Amino acid sequence: MANIAIVGAGLMGRLAALFLHRQGEQITLFDKDQKKGELSAARAAAGLLTPLGESLHCEPNIVAMGFDSLALWPKILDSLDGYHFFQQQGSLLVSHAQDSGDFQRFAKHLKRNYVQHPCHLLSREQINELEPELGRSFNRALYLPEEGQIGNRKLLVALQQQLESEQVNWLTNHHVEQINGNRLLVNGDWQQFDLIIDCRGTGAIKSASNTVGAISDLRAVRGELFQLFAPDVHIHRPIRLMHPRYQLYIAPKGKGHYVVGATEIESDDLGPMTVRSSLELLSAAYSIHPGFAEAKIRQHVVGTRPAFSDNQPQMKLSHELIQINGLFRHGFLIAPVLLEQLLTTVAHIKQEKPLEQLTELVAYPELLHWQQSESSTINSNQRRYNYANNYANN
Ligand SMILES: Cc1cc2nc3c(=O)[nH]c(=O)nc-3n(C[C@H](O)[C@H](O)[C@H](O)COP(=O)(O)OP(=O)(O)OC[C@H]3O[C@@H](n4cnc5c(N)ncnc54)[C@H](O)[C@@H]3O)c2cc1C
Repeated sequence: MANIAIVGAGLMGRLAALFLHRQGEQITLFDKDQKKGELSAARAAAGLLTPLGESLHCEPNIVAMGFDSLALWPKILDSLDGYHFFQQQGSLLVSHAQDSGDFQRFAKHLKRNYVQHPCHLLSREQINELEPELGRSFNRALYLPEEGQIGNRKLLVALQQQLESEQVNWLTNHHVEQINGNRLLVNGDWQQFDLIIDCRGTGAIKSASNTVGAISDLRAVRGELFQLFAPDVHIHRPIRLMHPRYQLYIAPKGKGHYVVGATEIESDDLGPMTVRSSLELLSAAYSIHPGFAEAKIRQHVVGTRPAFSDNQPQMKLSHELIQINGLFRHGFLIAPVLLEQLLTTVAHIKQEKPLEQLTELVAYPELLHWQQSESSTINSNQRRYNYANNYANN
C-alpha cells in the first residue's frame, strides 16, 4: 500500500481517489472546496459525450479517447451505488440556412476522417421520426448514433457518496498552497506522501501567488451555459447547432430540464455571464425550438476549463508527483481513458520501473510528459527506502 495524496476533488480527483483506493492504496483527498464541487469545472459542465461533434475542433486522438471512454463509462457507473445518468442514443447536428456551408464542410470532414463511425444525413421526415419537435425548424440534420451524454452533477454526487461509503479520507476546505515533489503545503504544514497526484484543474495555473508546483503553459478558458426548465419542449438527445462563434448545443437532462451551452472565451474571469453571451445562447435555443421562449431560467453557470496551448491533456510524471491537467472541454469525454492510464502508471511507479517504459504500456503515450522534480533527484534513495518499507509492511 502506498500513501497517496490527491489534490483536487473535481472530476479527475474523485475518480482517481475511488479507483486507487479500490486498488488498495491509502488515499488522502484534498480540496479547497466543499464536497458539492462548486469551484470545479466538472460541476459547471454539460456532460456531453460527443466525440464526432467535437472533432472539427480537436485532434483525432481526443476523438479516439472519446470513443474508448464511451465504452468504459458503463463499467465505472455500474460500480457506483448512487443514482447516475448515462445515455448513448446518438446526437443530432443541425444548421440554419446561413450556416449551411459549415454544415456541408462538417459532413465532408466526418466522411473523410471518421468513415468507420456511422453518420446519417436525415431528411425532415427522418428528423421527425427521431425528434418529432425538431422537424418544423430543420429540413436536414446529421445523426451520429454512437454519441451520448452523462449527468455530470449526478456523477459528482454519486462519486461523493461512494467515496464516503468506502471511507476514503477526504479533507474539504483544505487549500493546498504548494506542491514540491512528494510534499505539499496545506494550512501552514508541509506533509509528505509516497506519491502526490495533482488534479487541481485551473487551480494549478502558475501565477504570482502560485509558483511552487504550479504548471506553466496552462490557461483558463471561460465557458458559460444556461440551465433551463422547459416542460413544453420534448427533446431526447443532445442537439448541436452549427454556429460561427461557438459550438452551441442543447443537452436534455430529463423531466423538462435542459442545458444550453456553451461559450468559449479566452479568459479566467469567473464573473457573471455577459449580455452578449446570454443573447447568443438563448436565441440559439429559441431558434432550435420556439418552446424555449417560455422556459424558466433556473441558473446561469460560469466555469473555466483548464487547457494547455495545444488543447491536449497531459500527464506530467515523476516518481513522486503525477499532474493530470489540460482536460479542456473534454473532461467527461476522456476521463475513463485517463483514469486507466493513471492506474497503470501508479502500479508501474510502485514497482520502481523506469517511467519511459510506460510508453509501451498505455494506449495514449503522447499524453505522458516526464518531469524531474528537484526533490526527486535529492530524495530518490529515501524514496526507494520508503517504498521498500511500505511493501514490507503490507
Ligand atoms: C461550461 C463548461 C462546459 C463543459 N462541458 C463539457 C462537456 O459537455 N463534456 C465534457 O467532456 N467536458 C466539459 N467541460 C470540461 C470539463 O468540465 C473539464 O474538462 C473537467 O471538469 C476537468 O476536470 P479536472 O478534474 O481536471 O478539474 P475540475 O473539475 O475543475 O476540478 C478541480 C478541483 O481542484 C480543486 N482545487 C483547485 N485548486 C486547489 C488547491 N490549490 N487546493 C485544493 N483543491 C484545489 C477545485 O476546487 C476543484 O474541485 C465543460 C467545462 C465547462 C466550464
